[in-house]
Amino acid sequence: MEEIKSPRKTVMLSGGVLVALAMIMALVMAFSATPAGIMVDNRQIAAVKSEAQAEAVIADFLAEQKTLADSEVYFAENVTVAADIKADTVVSYEEAMQLLAEAATPVTDGAAIVVNGKPVVYMGSTELANNALQYLKRSYLPNDSTMTVLDAKFAEEVIVEPAEAKVAELCDLNEAKLALKGIDTGVAPISVIVVLEKTRTEEVPFKTVYKNSNKLRYGVTETKQQGVNGSREVTLQLVQTNGVETARYEMKSTTLVEAVDAIVMQGAQVQTSSRSTTYVTEAGMIWPTTAKRISSYYGTRSRGYHTGLDIDGNSGDPVWAAKDGTVLEAGYNGSYGNDIVISHGDGLKTRYSHLKSISVSAGDKVTIGQQIGTEGSTGNSTGAHLHFEVIVNGDSVNPLNYIK
Ligand SMILES: [Zn+2]
Repeated sequence: MEEIKSPRKTVMLSGGVLVALAMIMALVMAFSATPAGIMVDNRQIAAVKSEAQAEAVIADFLAEQKTLADSEVYFAENVTVAADIKADTVVSYEEAMQLLAEAATPVTDGAAIVVNGKPVVYMGSTELANNALQYLKRSYLPNDSTMTVLDAKFAEEVIVEPAEAKVAELCDLNEAKLALKGIDTGVAPISVIVVLEKTRTEEVPFKTVYKNSNKLRYGVTETKQQGVNGSREVTLQLVQTNGVETARYEMKSTTLVEAVDAIVMQGAQVQTSSRSTTYVTEAGMIWPTTAKRISSYYGTRSRGYHTGLDIDGNSGDPVWAAKDGTVLEAGYNGSYGNDIVISHGDGLKTRYSHLKSISVSAGDKVTIGQQIGTEGSTGNSTGAHLHFEVIVNGDSVNPLNYIK
């Protein structure tokens, strides 16, 4: 009777009972839960107090890694929970987290920057990796409005490819920039080649032309025409590798203002020791004696090669230094007879042979036109003459290119 009268009360009572039961059940389960194992590739790495806690450790660990990676993270290994295991001791939540971090490898679907087939940097996505490469290129472009960038490229084969990346090895953009520039290792894995063009105006320095003047004494110079610098517009192509110039090409040059040569007159008048006046050649030497007649030229002759010029004359004629210099040898020298060699610097020497007398010694400084001996016929000689040689870097050359 009562039950019929008050059915709502029964329902309400039943709801209260259910809530109470659920609470009791939860308490019972919490107190009666059996330990669970966290398994990595079927190896138990930690025992925790319950299956729920094992699952929480795994979920929380992945969530933490996901925050670090900024993308979905999974384990490279097979990570599972073994319920209802027998365990004498269980570890805390924190210890389980630590053990999982040591045993498992969280990875994400990221991207690798691959240089000549070798991955050098891992990033969270291909987009990030491409950004890092773009940044790398941009970082080597000049901050100079006078330069035009013709090309910016990598010397190596550089590609970005999707790759499973360990969260611990992921680089963010800043880390990638440092790694790609080799800041830490000192060796940049990528060479960025930038080709630049630059047009600029530059000065063209004038040249100085020297001309002999028979009106001026040897050693005196007179500027006949002042030099004036010119200018030109030049287009350069510069090649830089990782910011360092490795090549430079001149692509185009346009003269804006022609340079004007400076003309300097050099005195050619030489007063010889015999008080006669002679003149230096453009090559800077004087004829070394009074006689002018050539009895044998430089070069091939019937008996062998003649390394000098034979100038006829009389025994006792003066022999002069053909140019300022230092006496290297002065004395008797086999078939050369009485012989003098003078060094004029820059590998240039002169030789005077078959002399009757020698009036200088090795080591003496001599000036052009200074008498150094007299003509004779000593050594391998059939009559009084001067054998005169010009030697350049150890080889005799035709003296008539130096005297006339
Ligand atoms: Zn000779």
